[in-house]
Amino acid sequence: MMHTVIANRTDMPADTALLPVYDQLPLTPVRGQGVWLWDADGRRVLDLWGGHAVAVLGHAHPLLLAALSNQASTLMFQSNALPLPIRDEAATRLVAFAPDGLDRVFFVNSGAEANENALLLALRATGRGRVVALEGAFHGRSAAAAAVSWGKHRQAFPQAPFGVTFVPRGDAAALEAALDGDVAALIVEPVQGVAGAFELGRDYLLAARELTRRTGALLVFDEVQSGMGRTGHPFAAQLYGVTPDLLTVAKGIAGGFPAGAVLATEEVTAGVGVGVLGSTFGGGPLACAMIIATLEAIVHGDLLERVREVSSYLRSVCRVGPVIDVQGEGLLVGLRTSVPAKEVVAFLLGRGILAGGSADPHVVRLLPPLVLRREHVDLLVDALRQMPLPQTLLVEP
Ligand code: PLP
Repeated sequence: MMHTVIANRTDMPADTALLPVYDQLPLTPVRGQGVWLWDADGRRVLDLWGGHAVAVLGHAHPLLLAALSNQASTLMFQSNALPLPIRDEAATRLVAFAPDGLDRVFFVNSGAEANENALLLALRATGRGRVVALEGAFHGRSAAAAAVSWGKHRQAFPQAPFGVTFVPRGDAAALEAALDGDVAALIVEPVQGVAGAFELGRDYLLAARELTRRTGALLVFDEVQSGMGRTGHPFAAQLYGVTPDLLTVAKGIAGGFPAGAVLATEEVTAGVGVGVLGSTFGGGPLACAMIIATLEAIVHGDLLERVREVSSYLRSVCRVGPVIDVQGEGLLVGLRTSVPAKEVVAFLLGRGILAGGSADPHVVRLLPPLVLRREHVDLLVDALRQMPLPQTLLVEP
């Protein structure tokens, strides 16, 4: 069957059945290994995008391959209606990885689904009807997650399923004013990902913790992008020393297999019984095997230490060519550029380096596998140096 040719799209086959909802880059990878991708012509590309923060262990990691094939040949799927030891093990290991006090787990399949359920739990636990969210936030595309996302996303549905108040990010006084007795939860990405790796900082997050505690609102950390070791700590919560009441995780949790989870305190989940939450695929055995393998590789390797080391190196050498500043935490990196980020991303891809954009037109975002090394950063720096710039924008190396 022939499909309509999509206007202005040279990167997709003319007869694709796919909806043209993604602005795609001109690279069709057919294979990946570690931090590298190859296309069908054998062209090798350094992957600093990591499948949008999913490939935390890089591509084709042997632990993930073994976990997937062992589990697939043992028990590929069973629902939550049947108890599975592997599901319990994945939950126990995730709790051990998370900040102290987040002792309860509900498994889902994606970041939006994790946030949807976290908000449901917060509204239910408090009996209140309003959520406070931050300008610049992105929490997903489903109804509740979109309602607390900034910009066009929150207008995607005709109305929000609960009251939402947006506050300017980083402004503790505005937050204090918004947190009245009707607010069930404040939802925050400790480092805003889609916004361009914008870090809210310890002081603001500590203030958010204190203010929510004082007003009886629950604090939800969306760590879909900042979690699973990306900041050089298990979660940004541990980096900043701020423990929320609920924490959501997805993307890299299973190293590339679709999975997500909501973590919560005993207090928040008291009274949550049969039928309150549900998901057919959430906590399936393949996902759980991949979650266990991912956690195993992070906890028992020196990965977190390496993230801290390589990310601090990256920050010390990347202010070259079009890059005027570096923001974010660990390997959730925003390169602020003097020219439009789109031009930098296109130039880098032409030099064999895959990077991404953000909601900020002057921030190139890097979400590389956590196995990145200094030599890969050097390749990025060399490429950035080679980018021709308008004479007035040249930055001294
Ligand atoms: N939360 C954050 C911080 C994200 O960055 C994303 C996706 O980019 C989501 C939630 C939504 O995750 P998913 O696309 O898995 O639904």
